[in-house]
Amino acid sequence: MNAKNSVKTPDASLPSTPYYLLDEAAIVANMQIIARLCELSGAKALLALKCFATWGVFDVMQPYLHGTTSSSLNEVRLGHETFGNNADVNSKDKKETHAYSVAYSADEIPEVLSYADKIIFNSISQLNAFKDQAAAQGIPVGLRLNPKTSNSSFIIADPARPFSRLGEHDKDKIAAVLNDITGVMIHNNCENDSFEAFSESLADIEARFGDILEQLEWVSLGGGIHFIAPDYPLEKLAERLKGFSETYGVQVYLEPGEASIHGAGSLVTTVLDTMHNEKNLAVVDASIEAHMLDLLIYQEPASIAAINNDAIEIKAIDKNNSSDNTIIYGRSCLAGDIFGEYELPSNLKVGDKIAFGNAAGYTMVKKNWFNGVNMPAIVIRRLDGSIDIQREFDYQDYKASLS
Ligand SMILES: *Cc1c(COP(=O)(O)O)cnc(C)c1O
Repeated sequence: MNAKNSVKTPDASLPSTPYYLLDEAAIVANMQIIARLCELSGAKALLALKCFATWGVFDVMQPYLHGTTSSSLNEVRLGHETFGNNADVNSKDKKETHAYSVAYSADEIPEVLSYADKIIFNSISQLNAFKDQAAAQGIPVGLRLNPKTSNSSFIIADPARPFSRLGEHDKDKIAAVLNDITGVMIHNNCENDSFEAFSESLADIEARFGDILEQLEWVSLGGGIHFIAPDYPLEKLAERLKGFSETYGVQVYLEPGEASIHGAGSLVTTVLDTMHNEKNLAVVDASIEAHMLDLLIYQEPASIAAINNDAIEIKAIDKNNSSDNTIIYGRSCLAGDIFGEYELPSNLKVGDKIAFGNAAGYTMVKKNWFNGVNMPAIVIRRLDGSIDIQREFDYQDYKASLS
């Protein structure tokens, strides 16, 4: 699925810019791939809320997924409230709400347990501190395992980075608490689009931790597998997961974040000003720092998905240094608030609409009020093509975010 579908013809019901536009049809296309992977492999898929928590579209996601996973008390509550359902625990329609946090505080635990169907602790010390409370409520307990190897090209997102705090790695220590846990969670991939790399790293985990795995009931393999790519060998992945599940006798969970919503959202902006400083410059009514912060953190430019409602995918320029290029800036005063540098079919003018692609994952969850810049509205193109303005933000929201 690519972002082209996210922007179609001009639509009278769209609000003024800036707004995030989510396309339910594009989300469902991703969901169908996930559902197929689950069907072929027997794995269960949980939406990672830290990537995407815009619950206004959960109704179209819920039928395809088995639940949600979380990284905090607020996320586990949101997952329970918006995605969990009241189906009987033993029903196949029951949606699961998994709780995980890098570190829980003691006073959060009772509330976390009131929402969770499983709780995964990050360390053995947290496990020891809280396992009895979970057991008292009959809630299965897991531990995060850190295999000390990963497929991540960014050190900031590498769970196996040196001195990592993300999970336990010492096999003897893990073996000593096996009576307290029914499963483990391993998350060591980040946008990994190579099946071979995934499979090799899983083989490495099996070689080192296999005798632990076979004593468990479930293993979550986390997120970060880019099986949503059109050329990804989905069947091979399914077969690999199925074999893994059979070898160790475990239920496999996947925790797709990015794969769930990849290409399903755009950030639609308007050019407010143009200038020239050795290159063409344009300033839009949004900010990369406030509205697509992840790109700034990873030093990656935004792709253009549409200009003036014409779907046209324009990748940012990497190396060419032509003075004909246009740099699109955000309107915050951060000097480097840059969406990207582009080779455009024609020069931009004030009033042009620019839609930046792939603006759903790690984007809406990180939006902030830096510079007091207007917060983009949240707009949803429903499956039937109708447009819902799900939420608009104003000065009162800005004011209420501080005090
Ligand atoms: C971030 C994260 C995910 C989701 O990762 P994606 O790359 O968005 O698929 C899943 N599980 C855990 C534990 C995570 O930290």
